[in-house]
Amino acid sequence: MTNYDVLIIGAGLSGIGMACHLKMTVPGITFAIIERRRRMGGTWTSSSIQD
Ligand SMILES: Cc1cc2nc3c(=O)[nH]c(=O)nc-3n(C[C@H](O)[C@H](O)[C@H](O)COP(=O)(O)OP(=O)(O)OC[C@H]3O[C@@H](n4cnc5c(N)ncnc54)[C@H](O)[C@@H]3O)c2cc1C
Repeated sequence: MTNYDVLIIGAGLSGIGMACHLKMTVPGITFAIIERRRRMGGTWTSSSIQD
Protein backbone atom coordinates (compact mmCIF):
# COMPACT_ATOMS: atom_id res chain seq x y z
CA MET A 1 0.00 0.00 0.00
CA THR A 2 1.27 3.46 -0.89
CA ASN A 3 1.05 6.22 1.69
CA TYR A 4 0.68 9.90 0.81
CA ASP A 5 0.92 13.07 2.88
CA VAL A 6 -2.15 14.53 1.16
CA LEU A 7 -5.08 13.00 -0.69
CA ILE A 8 -6.88 15.39 -3.06
CA ILE A 9 -10.43 14.44 -3.99
CA GLY A 10 -11.37 15.61 -7.49
CA ALA A 11 -9.25 16.67 -10.46
CA GLY A 12 -11.20 19.82 -11.28
CA LEU A 13 -9.51 23.21 -11.26
CA SER A 14 -9.43 23.20 -7.46
CA GLY A 15 -7.76 19.82 -7.22
CA ILE A 16 -5.27 20.54 -9.98
CA GLY A 17 -4.55 23.93 -8.43
CA MET A 18 -3.99 22.36 -5.03
CA ALA A 19 -1.57 19.86 -6.55
CA CYS A 20 0.37 22.70 -8.24
CA HIS A 21 0.57 24.72 -5.03
CA LEU A 22 1.73 21.72 -3.03
CA LYS A 23 4.45 21.01 -5.59
CA MET A 24 5.60 24.63 -5.62
CA THR A 25 5.43 25.39 -1.90
CA VAL A 26 6.09 22.14 0.00
CA PRO A 27 9.23 20.41 -1.29
CA GLY A 28 9.15 16.65 -0.99
CA ILE A 29 5.47 16.38 -0.14
CA THR A 30 3.68 13.37 -1.57
CA PHE A 31 0.10 13.47 -2.75
CA ALA A 32 -2.42 11.65 -4.88
CA ILE A 33 -5.49 12.88 -6.73
CA ILE A 34 -8.61 10.70 -6.81
CA GLU A 35 -10.97 11.48 -9.70
CA ARG A 36 -14.25 9.66 -10.31
CA ARG A 37 -14.40 10.57 -13.99
CA ARG A 38 -12.10 9.34 -16.75
CA ARG A 39 -10.87 12.86 -17.50
CA MET A 40 -9.30 15.67 -15.53
CA GLY A 41 -10.71 19.20 -15.58
CA GLY A 42 -14.01 18.82 -13.69
CA THR A 43 -16.75 21.14 -14.90
CA TRP A 44 -14.61 22.43 -17.73
CA THR A 45 -14.37 19.01 -19.39
CA SER A 46 -17.89 17.84 -18.63
CA SER A 47 -21.11 19.00 -20.22
CA SER A 48 -22.70 20.37 -17.05
CA ILE A 49 -21.78 22.41 -14.00
CA GLN A 50 -23.65 19.94 -11.74
CA ASP A 51 -21.58 16.91 -12.78
C1 LIG B 1 -18.72 28.04 -18.97
C2 LIG B 1 -18.39 28.08 -17.50
C3 LIG B 1 -18.03 29.28 -16.91
C4 LIG B 1 -17.74 29.36 -15.56
N1 LIG B 1 -17.35 30.56 -15.05
C5 LIG B 1 -17.02 30.65 -13.75
C6 LIG B 1 -16.57 31.89 -13.20
O1 LIG B 1 -16.48 32.91 -13.88
N2 LIG B 1 -16.24 31.93 -11.88
C7 LIG B 1 -16.33 30.83 -11.08
O2 LIG B 1 -16.00 30.92 -9.90
N3 LIG B 1 -16.76 29.67 -11.59
C8 LIG B 1 -17.11 29.55 -12.88
N4 LIG B 1 -17.55 28.37 -13.39
C9 LIG B 1 -17.75 27.30 -12.47
C10 LIG B 1 -16.62 26.29 -12.51
O3 LIG B 1 -17.23 25.06 -12.34
C11 LIG B 1 -15.65 26.56 -11.36
O4 LIG B 1 -15.02 27.77 -11.49
C12 LIG B 1 -14.57 25.50 -11.26
O5 LIG B 1 -14.53 24.65 -12.37
C13 LIG B 1 -14.79 24.70 -10.04
O6 LIG B 1 -13.70 23.82 -9.91
P1 LIG B 1 -13.71 22.71 -8.81
O7 LIG B 1 -12.44 21.92 -9.00
O8 LIG B 1 -13.94 23.29 -7.47
O9 LIG B 1 -15.00 21.84 -9.10
P2 LIG B 1 -15.32 20.86 -10.40
O10 LIG B 1 -14.83 21.51 -11.63
O11 LIG B 1 -16.74 20.57 -10.20
O12 LIG B 1 -14.41 19.62 -10.09
C14 LIG B 1 -14.69 18.71 -9.07
C15 LIG B 1 -14.10 17.36 -9.48
O13 LIG B 1 -14.22 16.47 -8.39
C16 LIG B 1 -14.67 15.21 -8.88
N5 LIG B 1 -15.33 14.53 -7.76
C17 LIG B 1 -16.44 14.95 -7.11
N6 LIG B 1 -16.74 14.10 -6.12
C18 LIG B 1 -15.80 13.11 -6.17
C19 LIG B 1 -15.57 11.94 -5.41
N7 LIG B 1 -16.39 11.61 -4.38
N8 LIG B 1 -14.52 11.16 -5.71
C20 LIG B 1 -13.69 11.50 -6.73
N9 LIG B 1 -13.84 12.60 -7.50
C21 LIG B 1 -14.90 13.39 -7.21
C22 LIG B 1 -15.58 15.55 -10.03
O14 LIG B 1 -15.70 14.46 -10.93
C23 LIG B 1 -14.84 16.74 -10.66
O15 LIG B 1 -13.90 16.32 -11.64
C24 LIG B 1 -17.82 28.23 -14.74
C25 LIG B 1 -18.16 27.01 -15.34
C26 LIG B 1 -18.44 26.93 -16.69
C27 LIG B 1 -18.79 25.61 -17.32
